[in-house]
Amino acid sequence: MDRSRDDVWNECLGIIRDNISRQSFRTWFEPLRAVGLEEEDGALKLTVQLPSRFYYEWLEEHYFALLRKTITKVLGPGGRLYYDIVIERDEPAAGGRRGSSMELPARQPANVPPAERMPKVELPDGVTPPRPSTDVPSDAGRALDPTRGYDGGAAAPRRAPSAHPFALPGVKPIEVDPHLNRSYTFERFIEGDCNRLARSASWAIAQDPGGTSFNPFLIYGGVGLGKTHLIQAIGNYALANNHAKTVRYVSSEMFTAEFVQSIQSNRIAEFSQFYRGVDILIIDDVQFFGGKEKTQEEFFHIFNELHQQGKQLVLSADRPPKDIVGIEERLLSRFQWGLAADVQPPDFETRVAILNRRAKDDGTKVKPEVIEYIATHVKSNIRELEGALIRLQAHAALTGREIDQELAREVLKDLIKEARPQLTIEAIQSVVCDYLGIPEDLVRARTRKREVVQARQVAMYFSKEITNHSLKTIGLHFGGRDHSTVIHAVRSVEDQVDTDPSFREMVGNVQKKLEMHQR
Ligand code: ADP
Ligand code: MG
Repeated sequence: MDRSRDDVWNECLGIIRDNISRQSFRTWFEPLRAVGLEEEDGALKLTVQLPSRFYYEWLEEHYFALLRKTITKVLGPGGRLYYDIVIERDEPAAGGRRGSSMELPARQPANVPPAERMPKVELPDGVTPPRPSTDVPSDAGRALDPTRGYDGGAAAPRRAPSAHPFALPGVKPIEVDPHLNRSYTFERFIEGDCNRLARSASWAIAQDPGGTSFNPFLIYGGVGLGKTHLIQAIGNYALANNHAKTVRYVSSEMFTAEFVQSIQSNRIAEFSQFYRGVDILIIDDVQFFGGKEKTQEEFFHIFNELHQQGKQLVLSADRPPKDIVGIEERLLSRFQWGLAADVQPPDFETRVAILNRRAKDDGTKVKPEVIEYIATHVKSNIRELEGALIRLQAHAALTGREIDQELAREVLKDLIKEARPQLTIEAIQSVVCDYLGIPEDLVRARTRKREVVQARQVAMYFSKEITNHSLKTIGLHFGGRDHSTVIHAVRSVEDQVDTDPSFREMVGNVQKKLEMHQR
């Protein structure tokens, strides 16, 4: 033989390179290595090693004709191409397969310890190889669902057939559990200035997944601003309207966990194949890929593959891509190929609309002033906004009370307290004295007149309730009194509230006045 196998393969690669896109070449042919060139029955036989079964499937599906032409050209009319496919352990390599053109070589690759035998798939000139996928048992596709197939747990019988190396995607439809929350729909999503771009882009994508220039599509923004809702709405809509057959929603943490599990059970190929087979891949909170290099690398390949196939990628992150830490540059730059749209905290009108919508969906009547009360005080986060309403509804249901502003004030006290402007001790003194008709400076003076003592105690009590000042500081603001005097005042007010109805009413009224000052 006067030509080395590498020369032969390089010549083949030259022809292939001229016939397909650069990207495809890089993805599908650069990783291949020639591992053998022999003469057999007067014809040349080239053996190429494929990194995984998936390559075999892909090459056969997409490049069979090109390979055949190339081999004929380089090796002559009788030329043959063989594949060496590395198969993970645990797979019944020869098990369920039939087909005359497959051989099981006796050797084992030295540097791949978990690998078992490597079947060779002969691809003779001019003959389409048999499609062993027709042998695939009917549950093979289903078993590719990593949430079900990878556990290897005691309960699940070992799904040997699922490991069939030639379960071609597309031949058997893969059953994919989309993992979507059905209530995250566009219908239930309130549009506002804060989310308009993200929402319209999501809508466009849901109509035509993979068909817009928003691929990948990344939504970024703070916690509780509707990212998960929107990206799932895309999946729900596309499925419901037959714009996609298979959708997969997964958080980056879940994806990582599945990947790790697939490594542990030697099922990376299945993991990879599963994710490469979906029409819309939705990955939530990609910032958690930070620092997980192996997972990133796997995701990188899946990303490329899906993107190249025109499948839709939808991502979310809690910050703009440029600020995500611990993610490889090549992946970050891909996140920005399509469109990155932000979501912002909602304005007052959007908050009111969201609350109204939510109350309507829940079938509860909530008065406009209560909605406005919540919308005024809970500002930064839609999850908290909804949480406030839910808490209120629960309280009303439990106590049989009507949802009014008073109940809202009571129930949401601690939620809203943080958002309130802090009252100063002087402001509290002023409100209390004003209500009780007492000159303000007297609470700081030495006088022990009964009405003054009462006003002083009530003002001390609210200073302790409302401000974060220490007892000592509070005492100082009341004419340099001791902290024990403040404790005494607080206890005294609490006792009288319990025992004296008119005192309780007075304290309640003062409290309302103070709240008004806090808005
Ligand atoms: P994120 O993923 O950004 O943290 P989520 O999508 O989980 O936020 O949203 C938190 C909650 O707020 C969810 O229950 C979601 O349905 C709701 N929500 C967020 N934005 C909107 C909106 N624009 N209209 C209606 N509900 C919304
Ligand atoms: Mg989320």
